[in-house]
Amino acid sequence: MNRAFEKLQPHLERIMALNTAMTLFNWDTDTLAPKEAGPYTAKVIGTLSDEYFQALVNDEVKALVKECQEHGEGLDENQAAIVKEAARTIEELEVIPKEEYREFSELQSEAAAIWSRAREDKDYEAFAPTLEKLIAFTKKFAGYQAKDGQKIYDVLLDQYERGFDMESLDRFFSQVRDEIVPLLKQVVEKNDTIDSSFLTEYYEPEKQEEFGRFLAEYCGFEFDKGVLATSAHPFTTNLHNHDVRITTRYVENKLDSSLFSIIHETGHALYELGISDEITQTLVGGGASMGMHESQSRFYENIIGRSEAFWEPIYGKLVETFPKQLEKVSLDQFIKAVNKAVPGLIRIDADELTYCLHIMVRYEMEKMIMDGSADVKDLPKLWNEKYQEYLGVSPEDDAEGVLQDIHWAQGSFGYFPSYALGSAFAAQFYHKMQEELDVEGLLKEGNLKPIREFLKDRIHRYGKVKETRDLIKAVTGEDFTPKYYIEYLKEKYKKIYSLA
Ligand code: ZN
Repeated sequence: MNRAFEKLQPHLERIMALNTAMTLFNWDTDTLAPKEAGPYTAKVIGTLSDEYFQALVNDEVKALVKECQEHGEGLDENQAAIVKEAARTIEELEVIPKEEYREFSELQSEAAAIWSRAREDKDYEAFAPTLEKLIAFTKKFAGYQAKDGQKIYDVLLDQYERGFDMESLDRFFSQVRDEIVPLLKQVVEKNDTIDSSFLTEYYEPEKQEEFGRFLAEYCGFEFDKGVLATSAHPFTTNLHNHDVRITTRYVENKLDSSLFSIIHETGHALYELGISDEITQTLVGGGASMGMHESQSRFYENIIGRSEAFWEPIYGKLVETFPKQLEKVSLDQFIKAVNKAVPGLIRIDADELTYCLHIMVRYEMEKMIMDGSADVKDLPKLWNEKYQEYLGVSPEDDAEGVLQDIHWAQGSFGYFPSYALGSAFAAQFYHKMQEELDVEGLLKEGNLKPIREFLKDRIHRYGKVKETRDLIKAVTGEDFTPKYYIEYLKEKYKKIYSLA
């Protein structure tokens, strides 16, 4: 083994241990921790993140990383990727003064609780000062990290999705918008032909949970290596490839909400569970990027999870679980209902077709926040105007408006576009998968294993060793293109709505 890498090893282990501890505290804060724990736990996380910072950004580690980069003899592909990731993370962190980084980490963990209460109370004012601080930190840090005239928002976009910037995203969104908006118009006109009222009957949360656990396992989630809990906003987190945790929320009068959020989070979880043992608990032992992660969750949730073939073997079980509500609902009706495209207010409840428009609102707002053309106090108004413009709907309060997502409360700006990109990556993978596998046939047999193996073998096991754009090319033989996403949506919705 490379001598410098050998010396680096114990440092890397310490870095990962601290990171794992912080992940676990964050998970606890969002699931089980009592409300009042917030500021106290935030202090602990602040100390840990301080330790993390010091473990990674210090002269000894920097010298070893540099030595590995300059004398890389004997490093295998994984080790070389770890060194590259370490160098990149150090570079991003070392420009941030330690004190500021600590303050920001503490603010981040307090902010989640403040946001959650503000959302509950439908009180934007209560969150606004915190949001103001989060934005100020984000801008300041991105300013430190910007390279030769790079714009603030481009710095942030690149951190979530390397190789993407405002220029490529403007192009992506305009292409999608040009195709989706006219299609949506056609679809909405025919919406009264699809009855989805049965989805909003009362569905016992306990039974939803029971079926949800079955569904996660059916898709390949391993409960020996995973946990399913509840939180205000569904998410996935992972400690390593033997401990991956997902959450959902059970809404009494919305059967599809938890069903599809569980499939979605399971898609994320399968990615993390599929990372190879050789790289788990290292800096490259996670998904390649946010967009790549979303491609996996959206592939499961939408592309296969909302297909008739997927439900064919298990719809009977769902009806058995909720006989009163579903006895008279055929599989065909169920599939149409869960794919109904209705312009709405809530991103995570959005259908596949309108989803991109929800993301466009956030993308445009983040651009404005970061270039200073939008003030924190004006965000609710701006939000509502954009919803009216793109989706034709207006929130009644800020809980179903600007306060609905946790992302900004976590200091995550530049994350949202990855959701839309993920859908597009997923469609491109699906196109390739269909050339090699009879996906529909496998789903009808209830045999998801070959599909899971395909994704594990070509994508999951590599973690961050391969970068997103390279992975897409390696899997599909083509550079990223929104072409397959647009084709997929058109074909799917024309079929569901019997459009010409
Ligand atoms: Zn997701």
